[in-house]
Amino acid sequence: MVEAIVGANWGDEGKGKITDMLAEKADIIVRFQGGANAGHTIVNNYGKFALHTLPSGVFYGHTTSIIGNGVALNIPVLFNEVKSIVDRGVPMPKILVSNRAQIVMSYHILFDQYEEERLGGKSFGSTKSGIAPFYSDKYAKIGFQVSELFDEELLKEKVVRVCEQKNVILEHLYHKPALKPEELLEELHQYREMVEPFVCDTSAYLWNAIKEGKNILLEGQLGSLKDPDHGIYPMVTSSSTLAAYGAIGAGIPPYEIKKIVTVVKAYSSAVGAGAFVSEIFGDEADELRRRGGDGGEFGATTGRPRRMGWFDCVATKYGCRLQGTTDVAFTVLDVLSYLDEIPVCTGYEIDGKVTTDFPTTALLSKAKPVLEKMPGWKTDIRGIKKYEELPENCRKYVEFIEERIGFPITMVSNGPGREDIIYK
Ligand code: GDP
Repeated sequence: MVEAIVGANWGDEGKGKITDMLAEKADIIVRFQGGANAGHTIVNNYGKFALHTLPSGVFYGHTTSIIGNGVALNIPVLFNEVKSIVDRGVPMPKILVSNRAQIVMSYHILFDQYEEERLGGKSFGSTKSGIAPFYSDKYAKIGFQVSELFDEELLKEKVVRVCEQKNVILEHLYHKPALKPEELLEELHQYREMVEPFVCDTSAYLWNAIKEGKNILLEGQLGSLKDPDHGIYPMVTSSSTLAAYGAIGAGIPPYEIKKIVTVVKAYSSAVGAGAFVSEIFGDEADELRRRGGDGGEFGATTGRPRRMGWFDCVATKYGCRLQGTTDVAFTVLDVLSYLDEIPVCTGYEIDGKVTTDFPTTALLSKAKPVLEKMPGWKTDIRGIKKYEELPENCRKYVEFIEERIGFPITMVSNGPGREDIIYK
């Protein structure tokens, strides 16, 4: 069976923890989109880890981790990440890299930096990992596919073609040094050496695994609102963050995805620019940020403070719908235990009218949050294993949100560890 684990919001919902937990019963975990621009934080018996490219199942001996064709593959980052976990005592994971994945080149990272510099204050808040230039090149058909690393003639010809195109922009738009074909070729040779032992037709591998009845997890990055089509364009990422894209980014039939676990956080956080209707500021935000996640809400890749907000029913209802949610995993509920009252954004007021439908970007920027207050529970809920044992006000909070978003909350996470989970 294939199950997808995706986010309903702006990312950082706790997908890593849920994947790590569900991976116990999985055979294969697949990353299907995105690159090293976002991260998952995972706490388990080996310690605390920030993963950017490796799937969150790498900590188990019985799982195979796949980098699917939809991923922006940064080969040195992947191998440093493998080294960093192995150095800390995790057994060498079994990793397969799709022969159809494309490669993030060093110039993609440079172009990302140069463009952010050029845009100055109007920048998108990119993590400068080269993701947007990478996907632009993929669709402009000048990207390097892993399979091409093994065709020397093609590489020699293509590096020249790529340099011609890139150097015009480097010279005239960015006023930066030109790329040299021989240096790109050398870079590609290094990548070939690193990746060769792991390259595989992962789509065929998964097809066979599905036929054998294996349990497969598709692990998404970021969340619905960062999807290029359905998110807060243009403040989005450059590959689809939706479960439906899991079929494409892994190379499997769409009808095989039987379960879509959408991870939803008990409050909101976002990184980067863009409208964030339920955002809070000042001391209120600082306190939630400090208490949030596991050791504060700071970016797993960049370390930058995340923007904080109350739970947003409008954005989450929409985010869950676009994912095709079968189950909601409601995370980080324990963090809210300090509050006397918990505001929840239940509607958007746009031009004097209240709506519960998530609008397009221009309207979104005009939206003001309609807040309703729920009573807090003021007791620590960590360690609780049964839903009925949660304080009444805590259950009321969960059920209020479940009703407003219209999708079943089947799991409640009350701590960062694998075992901190309550099945509802
Ligand atoms: P992801 O990218 O969706 O995997 O999310 P991140 O890893 O960026 O952020 C989630 C953060 O919350 C991590 O630091 C997790 O360890 C932590 N976390 C996940 N679930 C829980 C939970 O239920 N309670 C607490 N306190 N922390 C959690």
